[in-house]
Amino acid sequence: MTSRPRIAIIGAGISGLRLAQLLSPTADVTVLEKSRGIGGRMSTRRADCFQFDHGAQYFTAQGEDFQRFLAPHIERGVVRAWRPRLTCFGGTIPQWTAPRYVGLPGMNALCKAMASDIEVLRETRVASLERRDDHWQLRSLAGEVLGPYDWVFSSAPAEQSAALMPACFSHLPALEHARMLGCYSLMLGFDAAPDLAWDAATVLNSPMAWVAVNSTKPDRSTGFSVLCQSSNDWAQAHIEADPDKVRASLAQAVQETTGLVVEEAQYVSLHKWRFAKVERPTDEPFLLDTENKLGAFGDWCGAGRVEAGFDSATALARGLNLR
Ligand SMILES: Cc1cc2nc3c(=O)[nH]c(=O)nc-3n(C[C@H](O)[C@H](O)[C@H](O)COP(=O)(O)OP(=O)(O)OC[C@H]3O[C@@H](n4cnc5c(N)ncnc54)[C@H](O)[C@@H]3O)c2cc1C
Repeated sequence: MTSRPRIAIIGAGISGLRLAQLLSPTADVTVLEKSRGIGGRMSTRRADCFQFDHGAQYFTAQGEDFQRFLAPHIERGVVRAWRPRLTCFGGTIPQWTAPRYVGLPGMNALCKAMASDIEVLRETRVASLERRDDHWQLRSLAGEVLGPYDWVFSSAPAEQSAALMPACFSHLPALEHARMLGCYSLMLGFDAAPDLAWDAATVLNSPMAWVAVNSTKPDRSTGFSVLCQSSNDWAQAHIEADPDKVRASLAQAVQETTGLVVEEAQYVSLHKWRFAKVERPTDEPFLLDTENKLGAFGDWCGAGRVEAGFDSATALARGLNLR
């Protein structure tokens, strides 16, 4: 009897969980996640009576694979289309032709549902991979030794995967070539709902690029929660700036463009995404080194969207022969 391969997947975002789902029938899979929560950049912050999808705002489903995958989640009420009243400050109002989906009651719901049958070790930040005879051993930042594993796959953002992968990984140059940009999310919670003529807005010619009333997404029984996102270029230029100054600049930009009075917010919080959006993807849909039994994948192997992460994981699983 041949034993099942032991597999470590770094990251419990949609890419890591999709790969775990596809490999679980034939392998013993463990997902290692540095955060407390599941979902990676599809995460949800709850604070007081407010709630914010402070990463991905919504996602589209253009390909048949992702549409087929989503269908049962839509039927079960884990995912639903969001139809906000749109506007644009400084340009033309965008028209959404294809549906934009969100998780219910928070963006992280889809990844939580995907993780229900998968072993996920949370609050486990992988710090290094070490070769031991014929297997891999991982070491967490806290010093825990994890493994043994036959295969290790990283779905961490490209720069973080590059820092983790050992020198023997044959795709290190491709990994190091990929580039991601940052983003700041400013979260504002209001006790009294301001009267707005829009639910979501793109913003041009400003440090701010997107403002959405998170509480207008379906199934949100929360206080009036506004999520503002900086442009990626502005974030990148201010990625090491003092957070207080970043918060003040973005608050001023929101106020000037939308008229929302930030001083009236009861809850104000800033989150820095160091690796938010893909600027330069890899040329390949996934990076697989069969000789060393290592792989790296994620949205940065494609268009840098939720569906791109899903597609990268699907392609990797299809291209993999675990023997
Ligand atoms: C602000 C923002 C807005 C966005 N807006 C949209 C949008 O509107 N529509 C859309 O489709 N997409 C959007 N995206 C992109 C979308 O969120 C991503 O494409 C998608 O979530 C990527 O999933 P992933 O699993 O590939 O990566 P991630 O979600 O980043 O998952 C990687 C996981 O690896 C973990 N990890 C990293 N290093 C380690 C380590 N050393 N040890 C253990 N775990 C580790 C991380 O904590 C993370 O959970 C947005 C992203 C951001 C940040």
